Amino acid sequence: MGERPRKVLVAGGGPVGALTALSLHRRGWEAEIWESREDPRGKDTRITNLRSINLAISSRGLEALRSVDPSLAEEFLGDAIPMKGRMIHHVDGKQESQIYDPIHSQCINSISRPILNQRLLEALPDEIKIRFNTKLSRIDFRSNTAWGIGPDAKEVLPGQEHDDGKIGGQGGTDSKGKSKMKEDSEGTGFDLIIGCDGSWSKVRTEMMRVERVDFSQSFIPHAYIELHMPADKAKAGGYAIDKNHLHIWPRHSFMLIGLPNKDGSFTLTLFLPFSSLDSIDTRDKARTFFVENFPTAVAIVGEDLLLDDFEKNPRGNLVTINVSPISWSSHALLLGDASHSMVPFYGQGLNCGLEDVRVLNSYLTSHDISPTTTLPLGQTDPILSVALAAYSRDREADLRAICELALQNYTEMRSHVLSPWHHLRRVLDAA
Ligand code: FAD
Repeated sequence: MGERPRKVLVAGGGPVGALTALSLHRRGWEAEIWESREDPRGKDTRITNLRSINLAISSRGLEALRSVDPSLAEEFLGDAIPMKGRMIHHVDGKQESQIYDPIHSQCINSISRPILNQRLLEALPDEIKIRFNTKLSRIDFRSNTAWGIGPDAKEVLPGQEHDDGKIGGQGGTDSKGKSKMKEDSEGTGFDLIIGCDGSWSKVRTEMMRVERVDFSQSFIPHAYIELHMPADKAKAGGYAIDKNHLHIWPRHSFMLIGLPNKDGSFTLTLFLPFSSLDSIDTRDKARTFFVENFPTAVAIVGEDLLLDDFEKNPRGNLVTINVSPISWSSHALLLGDASHSMVPFYGQGLNCGLEDVRVLNSYLTSHDISPTTTLPLGQTDPILSVALAAYSRDREADLRAICELALQNYTEMRSHVLSPWHHLRRVLDAA
């Protein structure tokens, strides 16, 4: 057989999936992405995502972006708001700034999650094939073939068979105008499938059928609910509270946090045990809860807006997932939340997922993995197997450590930050 580019199928077009496909494409691989959601490219994220949800990107994530494309990191930094420290909001209304790095002025950066994802997808060149509205449904690891489900799933009609696997019928709509979901009638082959499909990864489930994978998941008792603090038009720049801080209203067993958005608003996230949430079962009880615990936030947002959000917004679970190994042969690999979900208190889930891509690249380089192969599609490549196994083995210890640190920071943020001595010790340690 002649030489051909290696074929990688990336399941999940979230930030980690997009960066993975871009980095392997840059190495000369043939890359394809399947994403179950619709195509966000070229759309106004303010319309596609009614709420502005943000996250903190740190030097770990920026370094990973730089390693694939230096201009990407600079573009994101231009869109981000630096947060140089945390602002503690006490119940009596006092605010206390705790600077993260008074010596070197390092900071974390608040960035819109939809914009980050959209820009990463827009940065992909046309050579990377992307199938949106396509959910990976199953994998046959004997032949390295994957199938997708969606309205655009490939359907080969009688008499239209092609042997290149590229023809596809449209899913169309049913009598009610809804998209019909159907599975590809023929599969897509790959050399390597990479699961960047998040915490409930399908690639991971399929990998666990063929490999002895140790897997654990544990939930914390807290739920998270996103709330919104609108811009204050009377203030310069529209920010009701300082925009260059991550704001925390710590209350020991629960807390509220706020990250700034470009439009002057803040995305607030309430972390509260499910058991407490169950007891706040009327609007009056919710009002009392907020007024007693977060009077300054209520004064800025307004009771009605806060309570409307609290009542209608979903309650999210927070889970830690550990997986070992995170690769199988030369055929499957897990990156991002698929291989390490962590609670968000360290602000490193995505940063760590982007870092996976940078670290993986270093293993492909050190094992001299060529972008081309002469093996038939689906045949095991012993050198790539060794490289992926080494990545998996070496990376797992770091992933476990950061998941653990994220859990520890849970107590730090909601409780320890209230002690000035604790903060002073951290500053002295950093010096
Ligand atoms: P995801 O973002 O989950 O993307 C997975 C993609 O795969 C999705 O687009 C999904 O549609 C697609 N998909 C799923 N299944 C399939 C399938 N079968 N077929 C095809 N496509 C599929 N991290 C930080 O670094 N900093 C923060 O400040 C931060 N804050 C957070 C706050 C909260 C409240 C939470 C819950 C998380 C936070 N995180 C933060 C973590 C961060 O959101 C995740 O780590 C990050 O989104 C993981 O990226 P990913 O690409 O691996 O997975």
